[in-house]
Amino acid sequence: MASQACCSSASPARTVSPLGSGQCQCGALRYQVAAPPFVAYTCHCRECQRLSASAFNTCAQVPAEAVTITAGQAATRTRPTETGNELTMWFCSACSSTLFCQNSARPRIRTVFIGTLDHPTNVEVSAHIWLKRKLPWVTLPVAHRQFEASADWTADYADDLARYKNTPTPKA
Ligand SMILES: [Zn+2]
Ligand SMILES: [Zn+2]
Repeated sequence: MASQACCSSASPARTVSPLGSGQCQCGALRYQVAAPPFVAYTCHCRECQRLSASAFNTCAQVPAEAVTITAGQAATRTRPTETGNELTMWFCSACSSTLFCQNSARPRIRTVFIGTLDHPTNVEVSAHIWLKRKLPWVTLPVAHRQFEASADWTADYADDLARYKNTPTPKA
């Protein structure tokens, strides 16, 4: 794929504008994301199929501290992951829509579900993961990055690798 340009601020297909505001289905729970995503992708795993009640979920990874709940009451639920970590989901306590999640292995990264954004066109998906679970009628753009299972987003976090690796200080 694309070679990694030294010192460039541009990661592969990175969206540069902040994701902006979003909400649950009933509108009681609203949030703001004050940063652009590191990476945006679809996930075709069985958990995301169940969560979205659909073929796949659409996800954008942002700095956790960039996400602010601006209205309503969020509830959380935590489930174990296959790799032994914990995944916390945030959802509206009124209508139960799920808005974002966070993996305990990467506490400084929040995954926002793109369908809940007020302007989902603010972000463009450029990768697809867990294709071993993809439903056969789903076709993907050939130029997009594709992964059979989970992905390595190291190149997408080139500007902030410590965040992705969950290390306290960036290496010189
Ligand atoms: Zn709601
Ligand atoms: Zn998934």
